[in-house]
Amino acid sequence: MEIGGFSFDALDDLYRETILDHYRHPRNHVQLEAPDITAEGFNPFCGDGVVLGLKLDGEDRVAQVGFQGQGCSISQASASMLTQALQGKTLKEAEELSGLFRSMMEGHEASGEAGEALGDLAALRGVRQFPVRIKCALLAWAALEEGIENYPARLKKA
Ligand code: ZN
Repeated sequence: MEIGGFSFDALDDLYRETILDHYRHPRNHVQLEAPDITAEGFNPFCGDGVVLGLKLDGEDRVAQVGFQGQGCSISQASASMLTQALQGKTLKEAEELSGLFRSMMEGHEASGEAGEALGDLAALRGVRQFPVRIKCALLAWAALEEGIENYPARLKKA
């Protein structure tokens, strides 16, 4: 069964359903007006593109997240999960979550609290058996990290 350019046969049912649900019904699939942080990612391997927008609450907490994009089911589902997971987090917490997710995709097991923090993202662990797809799963997160990194510099310029 190939959906959105990815063969889901090798994934556990539960993981498969979570990923497909995000792919078919992406959360926060909107372009935010005047976001504080914007970030873009592109993955030439399967033509995945993601544009993220974050609005902060006036300090460093995420008030709203939106994404737009196109590409394979893994990249788009991961971006959808990202927007959900970031809601209400500080930028530092967002970076920590990104690190946790990256570490899971690199093969480390997240258990206990760390596992819980990942929520739906844990469903992407099955993608680890397809090394070229790890980039798809990390695309939105790499963009996020870059966007956060560039944010203070932008503030200074303003
Ligand atoms: Zn992809």
